[in-house]
Amino acid sequence: MNRVALFTHQDCLGHDPGMGHPECPDRLRAVLTALDHPDFVGLLREQAPVATFEQLTLVHPPEYVRSILALHPPPGDAVPLDADTYVCDGSATAARRAAGAVIAGVDAVMEGWSDAAFAAVRPPGHHAEPSQAMGFCLFASVAIAAHHARARWGLTRIAVVDFDVHHGNGTQDIFASDPNLFYASSHQYPCYPGTGAPAEHGTANNILNLTLPPGAGSAQFRDAWENIGVPALLAFQPDLLLISAGFDAHKADPLAQLRLETQDFGWITDRLMAVAESCCHGRIVSALEGGYDLDALAASAALHVRRLMEV
Ligand SMILES: [Zn+2]
Repeated sequence: MNRVALFTHQDCLGHDPGMGHPECPDRLRAVLTALDHPDFVGLLREQAPVATFEQLTLVHPPEYVRSILALHPPPGDAVPLDADTYVCDGSATAARRAAGAVIAGVDAVMEGWSDAAFAAVRPPGHHAEPSQAMGFCLFASVAIAAHHARARWGLTRIAVVDFDVHHGNGTQDIFASDPNLFYASSHQYPCYPGTGAPAEHGTANNILNLTLPPGAGSAQFRDAWENIGVPALLAFQPDLLLISAGFDAHKADPLAQLRLETQDFGWITDRLMAVAESCCHGRIVSALEGGYDLDALAASAALHVRRLMEV
């Protein structure tokens, strides 16, 4: 059995983008309820810290961080930053906890008291650009954690795997000129946010976009990772593997049209654990991104964590 740390915080429920918004607090409640099952008694349950200003500015300009931290709509109100991204009084703190959870996950696996970590957090982060909130995301939590792994732990080569149904334009943008960072994403294409074409390789040739047409299912997803994604990760030889774990490629998800089964999220977890085992002592830090059908999200995230734990 693997020791897996679970980082989450009540404050992540305090981000409420408003009635009817798909990125709702019940998403996290559904995941945490699933992780209350007796199978998960071995999880090392930790409170997510808030990311510090210095940590957030590893990726975002100080003026952007200040602008997000200064957002305080009246209690009960949600105000739009763009057509999709709404914030309330608790949003900035939730986003700081979300980034803090992924950072703490890196610390946990580097300190060695856990083999892997899962950040059960919201809002998600992979659409956040350095100076632009978008796609429900405020801070680029996983990219921040990658830079933290360098700054605090002296790691050099860091890979992010993103199997959310949407392309992580923010992570790609932040990584695209650094040959020691690698970003591999499978996503529906065309779909929001419109980026992630196969020809987007990054100026450092360190970006891999695996596109799947609407309606694609398990076979195409597994083919893409088995034949292209996993060999590219093994060739890159990361010192640490981060996962942007979105579960909205599930066939039940209302926001996109891929047709993955719950079991596919177990399969990709196993494949990524094998990569981490061969490259970086099994060190994996995974963070919740999307997933908008509550039952599919809960079952898929629970299977992902179960595989990380090897129970
Ligand atoms: Zn998504």
